Amino acid sequence: MSGAWRLEPGDCPLCEAPVHQAQRLGRRGGAAHGARCGVETTIHRCRSCHLVYQHPVLRPEGNPYEDHPPDDYFNAHSAIAKVESGQAIALQASGLLGRTGRLLEVGCGRGDLLRGAANLGWECAGIEMTPSYAEHARARYGLRIETGDVGASRLLSEEWDVIVMAAVLEHLYDPLGTLRRVAAALRPGGVVYIDVPNECSLYTRVGNSYQRLRGRDWAVNLSPTFPPFHVVGFCPTSLRQACDAVGLEVRSLTGYAMEGCMDLRTGGVVAWVERLAARFVLRVGHAMGQSAGLTCWAQRRSR
Ligand SMILES: [Zn+2]
Repeated sequence: MSGAWRLEPGDCPLCEAPVHQAQRLGRRGGAAHGARCGVETTIHRCRSCHLVYQHPVLRPEGNPYEDHPPDDYFNAHSAIAKVESGQAIALQASGLLGRTGRLLEVGCGRGDLLRGAANLGWECAGIEMTPSYAEHARARYGLRIETGDVGASRLLSEEWDVIVMAAVLEHLYDPLGTLRRVAAALRPGGVVYIDVPNECSLYTRVGNSYQRLRGRDWAVNLSPTFPPFHVVGFCPTSLRQACDAVGLEVRSLTGYAMEGCMDLRTGGVVAWVERLAARFVLRVGHAMGQSAGLTCWAQRRSR
């Protein structure tokens, strides 16, 4: 990415507990990354709400995704699979609500997931901060897309039956503020779908221990700390606390297997063994109920 990062101090962005009371997990990015990717910061876990966050916080001067054309950023993601996942999410939403309705996706990228929901009869719209992605979604699928930051979104002033936040919350500097706006934009009884990495998975625990064994003060949490940049990290405890704080009742919280983007064809023998071991730990973690990914359905409480 072009441009610079500002390093800012800050306490827990979920519960505001002071950073000096947090558990320091280790350094990450720059000199504290195997491939020297990103800018170095330190990763902490809040002892109060369990949120994982950076200190100092790295803030980009511009939009870190702007230099990446849609087909570049999403090259690891199949459009067909995203359309199918949109259909699966829409089906689950129909099961919870007993009907179809209005569905909004925050951070909709190219619009593939929305296309899947629209295929099943949902009235769909999306918010996307990167103009090239938004244009792609409009041109390819004819979707109603608002370009801009979620904080200033007009679509969130409308009422929705379902709001989808798939791989979004971990990219936000004010996750609670955004979740509060999302909850307020739901009709009473409306539901939000959240998909985030799990920062207390077996993979992160074993990964951090392995770094210590190698004599490194590194953490594997908040992966990656370079585009597509993760700012905060959730686990079942912190995700439940965030939902509860904004008037959302968790209806289901389940782990899913995540293989990661580890290419076994690059790097030396040590890197190859590390990636093979990482895959094994990811699979065992999923089997043990400590999966690397979390999906959550939460419902707006009636007032
Ligand atoms: Zn906290």
